[in-house]
Amino acid sequence: MEIEARLYAGRVSQAHPAHVRRTDQLITIRYTDETGTERIVDWPVSATRLADWSPTGHTRLQFGPFPHQYLDIPASAYGAFMQQGALQPKPIRPGVALYAFMMSRVFMWLLVVGGFLAVTGWLIYAYALPFLSLRAARLVPIEQEVSLGNVMSENLFRTNSFAVDSSRSEAINQYWRAAGIPTRFPIRIAVVQSKEVNAFAIPGGQVVVYSGIFERMQHHEELAALLAHETAHIEQRHTLQQLIRSVLTWGSVSLLFGDISGISAVLIDNADKLLSLSYSRQHESEADAFAVAELARSGIDPRGTTWLMAHLPTEGDVVPSILRSHPQTAARIEATKTLVERTPYQRVEKPELNRLWQSIK
Ligand SMILES: [Zn+2]
Repeated sequence: MEIEARLYAGRVSQAHPAHVRRTDQLITIRYTDETGTERIVDWPVSATRLADWSPTGHTRLQFGPFPHQYLDIPASAYGAFMQQGALQPKPIRPGVALYAFMMSRVFMWLLVVGGFLAVTGWLIYAYALPFLSLRAARLVPIEQEVSLGNVMSENLFRTNSFAVDSSRSEAINQYWRAAGIPTRFPIRIAVVQSKEVNAFAIPGGQVVVYSGIFERMQHHEELAALLAHETAHIEQRHTLQQLIRSVLTWGSVSLLFGDISGISAVLIDNADKLLSLSYSRQHESEADAFAVAELARSGIDPRGTTWLMAHLPTEGDVVPSILRSHPQTAARIEATKTLVERTPYQRVEKPELNRLWQSIK
């Protein structure tokens, strides 16, 4: 089956309508070039990169050296394109991606360090762990974190059968772009339908927001604060560090018993751990500080951070899991309030934020 897409062939900025067909290995593109000649080109999936992606539609693939070629897959063809192969242009099957990750120098390094630590004892290990995970996280190239995150989120969405709310996801991604907070990661947000009050970050740039949390919010600035906070966990690589901590723990135990196969299972298992991943107090204050600073810098009222904290319940019915993973202490709220007061902020009118918030809420 063929889908219709648009090809930017690199030399000219004009797009060519193209017919695209793909297998797990090859993307075959048929188009007519500017001289009227029909051309057929093959992009190996392994050499194709995902340049942009939103959960609901627009997908952009990148191929070749600079000037890159791009293929834009419209929302209408997205489903058909997905069915022809894996989500990512790189192999997404966890086995293959995990094998590549395990064979990478970073992972071998983790194994060596993990084994060494198991031998030197649990006590030293407990102190060394936070330090090592920070160092290891810094060694993982961003691109590799993005592809690991894609494998994990694929796994997570499949095993939890999340019901993604497409129109709200589209609107919330537009909201995030309009907010204009810069990061090094490709941030993509998915809204899942749930009464639960929760949100969490996946390494590499994905943020999952449960629709139940919108009912708690009274101002759109609270949404900006939530997204900035989760983005901070990604940007400052807290999520990756927590993940590496689990891998180091299980990696060293497995090595001790000569069981390497246990390690790949750990990474897959960790996809589910993302749901209840807890951050250290230091990571939470770093994420709060990032949210306040970036909101203020973007001209969005940084009080959104404290409003959000005040509107999330802390007692009564069931304590929502976002609070288990992001403890809501009085000290934390006070510290954030103080930070907001000290941060210079000049409001920038962004009417589209309010408009998008109305369609999200
Ligand atoms: Zn947090």
